[in-house]
Amino acid sequence: MILVIPIFVPHAGCPHDCCFCNQKIISGSTKLPREGEIAAKIESFRSEAQRYDEVEIAFFGGSFTAIEPASQEHYLKAAAPFLKKNGGFVDVIRISTRPDAIDQITAERLKKYSVGIVELGAQSMDDKVLALSERGHTAEDTRAASKLLKENGFVLGLQTMTGLPGATEESDLNTAREIAAQKPDFVRIYPTIVVKNTKLCRDYEAGAYIPMSTEAAVRLCSKLCEIYAKNGISVARIGLQSTGSISREGAGSEVVGGPYHEAFGQLVRSYDALSAMKDALCAASVNPGSPVKSLTVITNPIYFSDVLGQSRCNAESLKKEFGLLHINVLPPETEPEEIFRKRAGRVTEEKTASVDVSKYDYRLAKVSGAALYTLKQPTGKETSRELREIILRLEFKSMR
Ligand code: SF4
Repeated sequence: MILVIPIFVPHAGCPHDCCFCNQKIISGSTKLPREGEIAAKIESFRSEAQRYDEVEIAFFGGSFTAIEPASQEHYLKAAAPFLKKNGGFVDVIRISTRPDAIDQITAERLKKYSVGIVELGAQSMDDKVLALSERGHTAEDTRAASKLLKENGFVLGLQTMTGLPGATEESDLNTAREIAAQKPDFVRIYPTIVVKNTKLCRDYEAGAYIPMSTEAAVRLCSKLCEIYAKNGISVARIGLQSTGSISREGAGSEVVGGPYHEAFGQLVRSYDALSAMKDALCAASVNPGSPVKSLTVITNPIYFSDVLGQSRCNAESLKKEFGLLHINVLPPETEPEEIFRKRAGRVTEEKTASVDVSKYDYRLAKVSGAALYTLKQPTGKETSRELREIILRLEFKSMR
């Protein structure tokens, strides 16, 4: 478990005005932190930090390295004494910035204060999309900055967006392939949402920008995650974090459109789990007329709710489509044979339906296949084919 100590640097260093950005809203803060405030804020996490495996100080919200160099040093000087190597309780300092605000002098400054992780807001690797989004940098800037940061030994994170103006599903998939080619240590994926007081909002209200639906964004993000997994790149986050003003549309929210959901990552994992379960059931020829009425999914308890879906929507969907009566979720130490033994007796027949797992291997690392068992009751009475159940082992690769 990682404890992130957030220090927001709202808009201060950013010379741009990207069409989707109202950084004061997204960061949840409207003023720059003063010198003493940073140290006091970090210090306030000291006791809580003991409960975590790793502690990060993260400067987010603006473009850190576009701030005046003296100000950067000022913030980093306040944070550096809290690093473990300086006798503190923090493992690493993380900053986020723009691809065109990194050069060797900047990298040297960050190294001087032991910044360990640098995240670049790449957003897209399509120059047309970048121009329409008024990003003010190109894909080549991202390539050059990524290379420089890796050569200087930083852990590299690349932030990307889907559904920006001018983007198509294919251009977003190409962006993921290009991002993967930069070999970042991790990525974040943010579906574009429309917030008040932005150019994108004005375009949206004029009908000139149509955001993706939540369903389409979930499907697309699933495909993007697959690309990253195949390249061994972890996805640190999918979807914007909820803040006071970034929340589902409604009173107090600055969100006026687009696929915002406070648990967007869970929507993607649930979508993948449902797809895997459906494929397994189809591979085992389960249908409403077949004798199989029960599905048991074995997975890590932290993913139980992903498997069942929000408000058990996955479970209900499977019951309806495949005629199942029971859907159970059990922890990984469960042995499939043990389930049957407890219920009815000895397993006398086993048939395994193989499932193509390759498309699930980014977080559903393994779908072991559906095992169809026929049981004999403890009495020894011949009751073959009395109980049939599908056992499916789903393994999610953990997120960073
Ligand atoms: S570069 Fe970042 S902070 Fe600046 S306007 Fe664009 S999104 Fe906002």
